[in-house]
Formats: sequence, C-alpha cells, structure tokens
Amino acid sequence: MQVKLLLPDNISVAAVQDVIWLFLPGVELSLLAGAAPVDSKVPVLEVRVEGGPGGLYGWAAYHSTEGIFCHERKTGPSPTGEVANERKRLARLLIFFALKEATGKEPGPWGIFTGIRPTKIVHRLLDRGCNREQTVEILCRDYAVRAGKAELITGIALRQRPLLLPLANNPGQVSVYIGIPFCPTRCLYCSFPAYSLNRHRQWVAPFTEVLLAEIRAVGEELCHHNLEVQSIYFGGGTPTSLAAEQLAELLEAANLYLRTAGTVEFTVEGGRPDTLSLERLRICAGAGVTRLSINPQSMQERTLKVIGRDHSVEDVYRAVEAARNVGFPVLNMDVIVGLPGEGVADVESTMEHIKGLAPENVTVHTLAVKRASRLLDELSNHPLPTGEEAAAMWEVTRKYAAGSGMVPYYLYRQKRMLGNLENVGYALPGRECVYNIQMIEERQTVIGLGAGAGSKWVNPRDGSLINQYNPKDPQDYIRRLPELIKRKIDKLAAIR
Ligand code: SF4
Repeated sequence: MQVKLLLPDNISVAAVQDVIWLFLPGVELSLLAGAAPVDSKVPVLEVRVEGGPGGLYGWAAYHSTEGIFCHERKTGPSPTGEVANERKRLARLLIFFALKEATGKEPGPWGIFTGIRPTKIVHRLLDRGCNREQTVEILCRDYAVRAGKAELITGIALRQRPLLLPLANNPGQVSVYIGIPFCPTRCLYCSFPAYSLNRHRQWVAPFTEVLLAEIRAVGEELCHHNLEVQSIYFGGGTPTSLAAEQLAELLEAANLYLRTAGTVEFTVEGGRPDTLSLERLRICAGAGVTRLSINPQSMQERTLKVIGRDHSVEDVYRAVEAARNVGFPVLNMDVIVGLPGEGVADVESTMEHIKGLAPENVTVHTLAVKRASRLLDELSNHPLPTGEEAAAMWEVTRKYAAGSGMVPYYLYRQKRMLGNLENVGYALPGRECVYNIQMIEERQTVIGLGAGAGSKWVNPRDGSLINQYNPKDPQDYIRRLPELIKRKIDKLAAIR
C-alpha cells in the first residue's frame, strides 16, 4: 500500500513516518507537491500547521476511498519554547488522531512517543517550571500518552533529577562505557555486538591488548583535562566471558586510568551466570566493582534452552549465592517479557524466583524483534505472545517490583517492541544505577571504549549531542585504534 503526503514546510517524511506506521505498518510514503487531488486512488494525508511562538493552529486530513478523516487543533504558547519542535509535535499529533479515526486502531499507551526517549521530554517540561500535575496533563494532551504512562515517566524523571545535576554545575564530569564483544553463545534475540567465543576466541587476546591501549590513552587525556569520571560500566557482550587474567588486567587499567575521586559506581555485566566463577567474582570485587549484573532473562528451563542461553536456573542460583558471599553492594538482574512460548504464568514464576534472590535492581525488558537478531529469521519456529499478553506480563513484573519495595528509575523504548511497550529499570530507593540514568537522559558525556561502544558527546554550553561509534567487529576495532583514539582526544578538547 502507498500513501501520498502533503506536509508543512520544514517537516520531512522521516519526522512523521513512525506515527503513520503505528496505524499503517510499513506503508510506502511519498511526498506530493501542490493541493491534495480529490479523486486520487492512492490515499493522501494532508497536514497544515500555521502560527508562531504565541500559538499554533493545524489540521490533518486523510483522504481515502472510505472517506475523509480530519483532526484540527489549536495550541497556546509552547510549553518548551521551541517552535520548530512544537510544529513537528503538532503535525505528529494531528496525524495520530486523523489516522486513529480512519483505521479504528488503538496503537498502545504511548501516543506519539515513538523513536524518542519519553523521559527526555518530561525533563524539558520540568526544566521550564512545570510541576507534576502540569507535566502529566501536557503529556496526555499534547503527546496522546495514556494517563498511567504519563504518571510513570513523570515520577521517574522527578526521581532522576537529583542525580542529573544541571549541566552548568557539572561540566567536568563524564561516564565511561567499555564494550567487550564476546559471549559464550549468541542468544536468539540478540542484536548487540556479541561474537561467540567458540568461533572467535582467537580475537580475544589481541582485542584485550588494544582495549588496554584505548583505556590508557583516553584515561590520560581525561586526566589532562581534569575531568571526573562519575561511573564506569563494563558491558557488551559478556565481560566475564574473558579469561580471568584478561578481566583482571582490564579492571586494573580502568582503576588506574579512569577511576577518579568522584567515581561513585563501577558496574560489570556478568550477564551469563555460567561465566561467574568464584575466581572472576573475586577479581571483580577486589577491583572495587560496586554493581554486578546477573541476567537470567527467564527462570524457565525450557525458555533458557529456546533462547540459546546455555545455562540453567540452578546456575543463576549458584552465581547469585557466590556473588553475595563475595560481596557486591548492588546486584542487578535482567528479565525479558514476551519471550517465545512464555505466558503470564511463566513470568509470574520467574518473578517469584527473582523476589527470593532479592537483588537491589531489576531491569525488565520487553522483547523486541531486532533486524540483526536470529529471531527475525526464525519467527515461524518461535511463536511470540500477543501485545496484550506482553502487557499483562509487564504488569506482573511491575507488581513484583513494587512488592519488593522497588521504584522505577529509568525507562526507554525501542523499535519493534511487543505491544508497543517499554524497558524499565527498578531499584530499591537509593540504589539506582547512575550510569543507566546518564546514558538514557543524555545530559552527561558518556565515552565508549572497546568494540561497538557508542560515545555521546554532550556540549556543556548548549546541551547539544554528538554520537560516535567504535566498530562492532573486533578486527576492525583493532585495525582502526589510532584513528579512534584521535577522534576521542579531539572531542574531549571540544567539550572542555
Ligand atoms: S548475553 Fe547479551 S550480548 Fe550476549 S548474546 Fe545474549 S543478549 Fe547478546
């Protein structure tokens, strides 16, 4: 199917495509010039937006063979003060309501929040002086978000604010992410840089050498610019799939070159419980790791097999018990709702296990069928829960987290999530992961080292953001290291 678009000046097809696809998934879109033809066989979506800083007026009309479906709206002065963004937001909202009427579809609770981080908008509203009630009202009215989700993200943003110091007070602080792109096996749904050790073990030693060089070079530059590192995060991949000596060397380098007096958090993703030998756990604790992630994703044996995890429920229990004995201030556990073949009862059972293990953080992801995953090619073999079932599972996790005394502290959404849902991090109050908040809210520079690691360079003068990525492939990463270090040195000079 095709739809032709007549859009206001300065609003591109890319700016509205995701909202249209909520109702007409995958429809082919092309721009029309001039007035909307009345007798077109191809549906036409026409949008007009007029006005300026004092207020906007706009309407959308969807001309199809079934009729014409319109929506119009007037706005007052922009609550965020950004007229170009306001025009785009209004165009998206008009399209949302016109297509909702035309198709009769209910696209989930997030309204026009697709492809963006909902809490970033909430922070912008709070920055401009809106209180909780005003913020919730604006989210429902101007973004078509349902009240429950508007309350959720406003509560999360308010909880984050003390940890997200205004940039002006905090320009000398960054966080550092270190990406280790190896895993014991590749999970069915994985889209991360995760090279299975069985096939890529020969690259681990050269990769580690090069990563040590990157940590040293960037650490020296941070010191030169007198920058504090607030948090350090080893992710991937599975950092604890490295040999014990390699892991020890990298943690030692992070302590030597990256850790500063202001470092409040040091996380290691020990994602796969079968990699958490007592030796590796002691190495992590000895290096001052403050937060360890042990990620079962599900506590159902049959699901673990289906998703290719290569570990058992018993391994999770063993790893958590050993980690507790060794001593880490914060344990995080990740679970996924919507895994193939699972129902609400499976998620209830998983959360009952997790509750018994009493981690300080639980991160709940909703399954997203990513382009780079095996799952996309094998969907016919792996029936997935419906969006409604995924929403019921999500609700189970929310109740368990609340019942364990946890509060939601960060949230983000991705494309292709079941039920158009979200990922949420829960924590016992005071145990929130600072790195996760900084990474999602993008108000602090995060420097990514290692394969596939992304850097987010935030200009402290205006809050603008530049993303840069290291290559995912360990061989490319090794080959391009001098250039990658130079890019970072240049950017570090620019943000000071
Ligand atoms: S453990 Fe994580 S990074 Fe590794 S294969 Fe599974 S999903 Fe990918």
